Amino acid sequence: MASPLLLELAGTALTQLLCFWLPSSVYLATPRLFPAFARRHKTQPSQAEPTASELQHCAKVVLQNQLLGLSLQTLVHVVHSTLLGAAPYAAGPQPSPLGLVRDIALCIPLCECLFYGMHSLLHRPALYRRIHKIHHSFTAPVALAAQYAHPLEHVLTCFVPIMVPPLLVRASVWSMWTFVGTVGFESATLHSGFKVGLLAERHDRHHEVGVRGGYGTFAFLDWVFGTEMRSVEAAGKGRTEGDETGYRD
Ligand SMILES: [Zn+2]
Ligand SMILES: [Zn+2]
Repeated sequence: MASPLLLELAGTALTQLLCFWLPSSVYLATPRLFPAFARRHKTQPSQAEPTASELQHCAKVVLQNQLLGLSLQTLVHVVHSTLLGAAPYAAGPQPSPLGLVRDIALCIPLCECLFYGMHSLLHRPALYRRIHKIHHSFTAPVALAAQYAHPLEHVLTCFVPIMVPPLLVRASVWSMWTFVGTVGFESATLHSGFKVGLLAERHDRHHEVGVRGGYGTFAFLDWVFGTEMRSVEAAGKGRTEGDETGYRD
């Protein structure tokens, strides 16, 4: 029988394949198969779709980042099992639907707090130029670009906010996989470039205007901390001519 670590990693990889790569492929194929439909439903219809070689490069970076995530997951599993004598995410029978919903409901706000904190940090001028600018090179994002990022950014905004909340709420491995799948699908959708709801249009706008505000997936923490894109633009601190990062030293 496979070891708990191998099962945990295989389940995570399968979840990424089904909930991130598969929907991303559908989002990416749509403008090529149905260009008129895509033009009608794209948030930035005038922007050209990425070329095949750009997509190939993007896919390579995403794959490298996911392998980094699986390596870190291995490290967490080994350290947790060694120090505490148990796997980080409890194995065993599938939890009840109510247990699954409870775990996901607890993980969502924790994930949002961690993501908002890390994402705002990455918008500090020095970190933006060195790290986060890579993710923002897609000013008209496509689904696969959700995980197109510097490896450090992948750890801070993808690995930590997704893998730590299930650990904190002592979720089962089934809940962890469900959460990884939920966030994977959500991030592909938010970056799809299609008008598929307010959250997707909001993150698309974050990429389009680029630089300041709109750090949370949801608007709540941006409202609490006054980092809404609208208020920042109104204050005249958005992208400035001649400075592609939009940040002034
Ligand atoms: Zn950003
Ligand atoms: Zn993004």
